[in-house]
Amino acid sequence: MQTSGRGVPLHLKIFAGLAFGAAAGALCQALLGYDHPGLQAFVKDYAQPIGQLFLRLIFMIVVPLLFSALVLGVAEIGDARRVGRVGMRSLLLTVVLSSLAVILGLTLVNLIQPGAGIDPERRNELMQLYAKPEDAAKSIEQGKQATSWLQTLVEIVPRNPITESARALEGGLLPFMFFALVFGIAMASVEAEKTAAVKAFLEGVFAISIKVIEFAMRFAPVGVFALVFSTTAVLGLDAIAALGKYVLLVLFALAFHQFGVYSLTLKLLTRRNPIQFFRQIRSVMLTAFATSSSNATLPTALRSAQEDVGLPRDVSSFVLTIGATGNQNGTALFEGITILFLAQFFGVDLTLSQQLTVMGMAIVAGVGTAGVPGGAWPMIAIILQSVGVQPEAIGIALGIDRILDMSRTVLNVSGDIVIAACVSDWEARSEAKG
Ligand code: ASP
Repeated sequence: MQTSGRGVPLHLKIFAGLAFGAAAGALCQALLGYDHPGLQAFVKDYAQPIGQLFLRLIFMIVVPLLFSALVLGVAEIGDARRVGRVGMRSLLLTVVLSSLAVILGLTLVNLIQPGAGIDPERRNELMQLYAKPEDAAKSIEQGKQATSWLQTLVEIVPRNPITESARALEGGLLPFMFFALVFGIAMASVEAEKTAAVKAFLEGVFAISIKVIEFAMRFAPVGVFALVFSTTAVLGLDAIAALGKYVLLVLFALAFHQFGVYSLTLKLLTRRNPIQFFRQIRSVMLTAFATSSSNATLPTALRSAQEDVGLPRDVSSFVLTIGATGNQNGTALFEGITILFLAQFFGVDLTLSQQLTVMGMAIVAGVGTAGVPGGAWPMIAIILQSVGVQPEAIGIALGIDRILDMSRTVLNVSGDIVIAACVSDWEARSEAKG
């Protein structure tokens, strides 16, 4: 989400969309009650379709965006293998830290249940508003098909990636991601001259996809207004209370990961003083917070890692450049919490295996998310759909996203420097020994 050029920044407009939508919806609900025919008609005939329009603008670009981002991200990390030990160690730490982040998020959201407590009757009305009958039938069908672990694994490997991409919004996402991962790994193992054209092509697709998302986001203030209005017109203030709990939970989890998990990692793997470390990277954290973009923070991160933290240039530029797109701990954590929160909010019970799927997808999404403001949202929308939650649900969380985006970007970038520090110190020890 960027500024819309002149005047008021876009994120403020989106927030205004949320605030007005919530206030107007709650007011109508209090004054008229959702049974009022005029209000029902307004929601069904206007608010709903406008919200849909906004969401579809995002959905339509998700498949090319995801494919190009994942292949390029993995190919870069895959390249790391050629650089040998440094690459493998960064990759290992990325996977471990992202997994910890997602596990932390999922545990907290299951414990606190910020989306629970919505009056079931009202929620049912909301579901009816959103759900198409065939969707309901499909969810029930999916619920019945609880298969064995091995079978689930078999289903992750697609028979035909084109078919899976066509049904990415109806459960084909995971196999499609798997295909993109394998494609990226293979691309990294083929000589660079042979893949140069494909890489350039995918870079083009990626840049164009980001542009399309930017176009769609210009419409977000109105889209968010419509989506939130529909929700609060049915649920009233319950919706706002749940949203407040969700925001606090995300902030708490992010802070815990940043100052708890990262500190521990630094202490265990580098014996650096975490407080001093965070002081050294203060300017990086501030830049990430202000820009909400890992990519935009990369130059500051590179400078600070070398000059303030004193990391060797080769290792730090390598790890940080890859990390800016490939390692997004904060985003992975946030995606896990958000998906489960919205599922709770809409009364969709996710089974353990569905939650594990969310976990896997959120970890991979850390690689597939573009390091730009709001980069997480296309992923969230599509993962929601694939676990059977109406993607309209994102409206309620999107309006409040800017502050969460700023905060999770701090983790994304700090995580890169933590990894760079661990790998550098590891290298130094190996060299001293060998
Ligand atoms: N803004 C994040 C970043 O640039 C991506 C996201 O989570 O939306 O790292």
